[in-house]
Formats: sequence, C-alpha cells, structure tokens
Amino acid sequence: KPSKRIAGIVPSGKDGWEVHFAAWNRKQAGEDIIVLSVGDHDFDTPSETIEACVTAVRGSNHHYTPLPGLPRLRKAMAAASTACSGMLTEPDEVIATAGGQGALYAAVQGVLDPGDHAIVVAPYYATYPNTFSAAGASFTVVETPAEDGFQPRADMIQAALKPNTRAILINTPNNPTGAVYSRERLEQLANICKEHDLWLLSDEVYWTLGGGEHISPRSLPGMAERTLVINSMSKSHGMTGWRMGWLTGPKAMIALMVDLNLVTTYGLPAFISIACAEALENHYGVKDIAERYAARRTVFLDALRGANEVTVRGSEGGMYIMLDVSAVEPDDEKFAWTLLDKEKVGVMPGSSFGEAAAGHIRISLCQSEPILKEAALRVRRFASNYR
Ligand code: PLP
Repeated sequence: KPSKRIAGIVPSGKDGWEVHFAAWNRKQAGEDIIVLSVGDHDFDTPSETIEACVTAVRGSNHHYTPLPGLPRLRKAMAAASTACSGMLTEPDEVIATAGGQGALYAAVQGVLDPGDHAIVVAPYYATYPNTFSAAGASFTVVETPAEDGFQPRADMIQAALKPNTRAILINTPNNPTGAVYSRERLEQLANICKEHDLWLLSDEVYWTLGGGEHISPRSLPGMAERTLVINSMSKSHGMTGWRMGWLTGPKAMIALMVDLNLVTTYGLPAFISIACAEALENHYGVKDIAERYAARRTVFLDALRGANEVTVRGSEGGMYIMLDVSAVEPDDEKFAWTLLDKEKVGVMPGSSFGEAAAGHIRISLCQSEPILKEAALRVRRFASNYR
C-alpha cells in the first residue's frame, strides 16, 4: 500500500479545471472559443535562449552537473536574486531547482518535519496544499478578503497560529488574484515571523510582472535569515517547459538543500543550465514579457470599463485579472459555465482557489491584445444581459 504522504496528494478545492477542459476541447473542435483559463504563455521562449541551448547541446555539455547547479548558473541566479530583493546575494545563498515547484518542494521539505504546521495564505497556487501534504505537514488556509484587494491580514494570520506552526507561505505578485502585497502588509507579516520564530516562504515567481517596484520580504529588517524565496525561469523568461527555478535563503539552509538535490534531481541538465545562465545574464525576454503583460492588462481593463456589474479586485501584477461577478451570479462556477456557453470565453471559477475568491472569475492574460479586448467585450455583454 502507498505511503500516507503519497496517497494524501489529491487535487485541492473544487475542480475548476472542468471548465478549462471543456473550453479547450470545444476550441480544438473548431469553435470560436477564447481560452483564458491557463497560466502558460501563448508565445515561445525568446530565440536567443533557444540558440544558447542549441549551442550548448552541440558542445559537449551532456554530463552530470554539480548538485547546487553549475557555478555560472548559480552566479547568474544570485545576481537575479540581488535584483529581485535589492539585497546583495552570494552564489552560495542560491540553489538551482527543477522549476519554481522544485524550489517550493525543497523549501517545504527544508523547514517542516512531519506533524509540523504551516499557514498558507489564500487564494493560492494550486500545488501548495499538496506540497505540505507531501512533507507530512499540516496547514491552515488563511484567506485574504476580496474587499481588501486580496492583501494579507496580520490579525487573521495571528489567529491561525498554533504551537507547532513553523512557516507561512505567501505569493506576491499573486496567482490567482494578481494582488501585489504592499510594503505595509509585508512588514506586518515579517513581524509575526520574527515574533513567533517562523520561516517565511515567499513565492516570487511573478516578480518581474508586478508593474512597479518589487518588494521582496527577504529585504525587510531581520528577515534574510528566516526567508526562503522561490524563483523561476518560467514566467519572467518565458521558459515554462524548461523546468528551471531556484531557491534563495541563508547559506546554512541552502547547503542542506544541496543534500536534498542528491536524492531528488541529482543535478539539473547541463545544456539547459547553460541556456538559463545566459538568459539570466542577458535578461533575454524579461523586459519584453513584462511590457507585454502590462499592455494586455491595460487593454483588457480598458475594454471592460463601464461594466458596472463586475468589479476588478487585485489584478495589479502577475498574469491574471480577478473579477468579482457576484452581483451578476453568486455561483462563480455557474457564471463560468454559462459564459462559456453564451459568449464562448473560458475562465477559471474563483472558488477553485479558495473561499475568498468565491463569486469571482480568474482571467489569464495569456492571449494577444486584440483577443483580450474581444474577450472583455464578451464578458461585459454577458454580464449586462445576464438573466
Ligand atoms: N508558483 C506560482 C504562484 C505559480 O503560479 C507557478 C506556476 O504557475 C509556480 C509556482 C510553478 O512554476 P514553475 O513552472 O517554475 O514550476
């Protein structure tokens, strides 16, 4: 029989994916469906990165790599962490992982023993609960109220603390809400971590898509020694399928993570590591991708303006827009299904991301500007004609 940890890995929340699969299948069958339900780019990896990989694979980069990552890659990741946090980061404060998910897994394994407890700030990315279950740890979900712009609330987090709480997991810019946590709220969170001797696990995979200045809680006073930052090549560099990310944290903790890599990946692919190093060193695609999502957000929200039935919440950064549709239809799943049937737009029902996002829909900005504009017009028409 399988271990409890493995058997305990189950899809979390309500199954919003059914709407996505229906939208996708109907599009494949030739219908004019606009699919705004996934979080993957609609464009390829920048050609410079692809060339770097081809050159590397044609060279003799076909061998094992050091467990913490190739020295050149580690240096490039440390430089990216310096930019992300504003704190000078040394190569031995970072470790290369298989995607942001690999970094998240390492962080959770690194700070929680079976039986320990964590706080997961919601709405959250779908894999979070299972990542704790896989470590044998329990967790409490603490919602961020929609009317508060999905910002974390210190009083709600305090109320969820237990004697065995070891860590808090946050994500800013946020998936699914697009909220970018304010300095004030991050400081409040940091104070809780310091007061109760907790780790802060900070998922910052969308840090280049935040619009303004990115605030990493690692840079707040007294936080560098208790923060582990999850970073990724996926979103910032247009490299979702390359499966590369990294974890940043105190040297001693990162040294232990090297041992974890021994029993998980046993090092990452050499030619992909070289391509990632070159992409990081030269910022391939980063500015262009950030500008693209900012322009898409503006186009969508502009086209939606005047739709009084729906309210925009969060939606400041990342790849997503969150719309409160409860004034039209409180059942967000019903809204999503009916929107798909009537106006042929596929979106994710908010309730699949937790209670606070119920009555909302999540829209991915993973389509071109004209398509997003058309989608906004369809949502607007749908909302005003509903019932
Ligand atoms: N964290 C968040 C908030 C995400 O949205 C995602 C992917 O969608 C990940 C982590 C995982 O990213 P990666 O592709 O780097 O594993």
